[in-house]
Amino acid sequence: MATQAPAGNQALARVARQLAPLVDLVFPPRCPLCGGALARQDGLCGVCWSTLVIPGEPACSLCQRPLTDPLALAEAAETGLVCAPCMAEPPRHAGVHAATLYTDPSRRLVLSLKHGRHLALADLLARLMVARIPPLEGQWLVVPVPLHRWRLWSRGFNQSAELARRIARARGFPLLVDGLLRRKRTPSLGGLDKRQRAEVLNGAITAAPSRQAALKGANVLLVDDVLTSGATSDACVRALHKAGAGQVRIACFARVLDEAIDTARDRQSREKAGSAKTVELSA
Ligand SMILES: [Zn+2]
Ligand SMILES: [Zn+2]
Repeated sequence: MATQAPAGNQALARVARQLAPLVDLVFPPRCPLCGGALARQDGLCGVCWSTLVIPGEPACSLCQRPLTDPLALAEAAETGLVCAPCMAEPPRHAGVHAATLYTDPSRRLVLSLKHGRHLALADLLARLMVARIPPLEGQWLVVPVPLHRWRLWSRGFNQSAELARRIARARGFPLLVDGLLRRKRTPSLGGLDKRQRAEVLNGAITAAPSRQAALKGANVLLVDDVLTSGATSDACVRALHKAGAGQVRIACFARVLDEAIDTARDRQSREKAGSAKTVELSA
């Protein structure tokens, strides 16, 4: 099993820490969202911090969807604080822990991580995720949502695996970076309805045969960068349960909720009075 940072990585981290002042001199720290000057290499400026939307309480007891709308809260209160989507279909997972709600700033951070290969961003995003994951009893295996090997080859890295690696290190949990396999290349699920998404994902994600023994009976923290419809993570949870895993919790950096998009849109249109800018969904 691939476990936490081997000695080589630790030595590398030590060298990186020692070189940090030099790196700052050559590449002055900049906010990854607005480009403003920063005191340190791995954060956001104060203004950009305030644009991130952190999911709040009260929230659904099953999926942690914030219940900010009074009507949704009143409805959920009648059912033991379970949101309408969870009432309609109880989730397979044991909880979702999102660092942010998916709005324009979190979308841009994820895109920079994914396509700009700004691995320093992985430290920041993982730190925000760790802060939102509650203390978990016992041992949990950290498993990233897998990329298909062709995509891994073209992109060079799996952003969810980079986040998972940092979360495992921070929490002292073992990392099983290849616990799940994506056997089929799947197109973007955007624009597909629930049945179509299930069809596309059918058989696409399985537990790695060589990791079945490690997964059997283990609790798993599944790590994803963006949780969109939940179809992909649900396919992962199903594959993990099929391999005999116990509880599966989902940690994501940004969670897509229609109501968060609406709030961000409202704010944008208020701020830009009349501008037609909208929040695009591209996971
Ligand atoms: Zn900024
Ligand atoms: Zn829920």
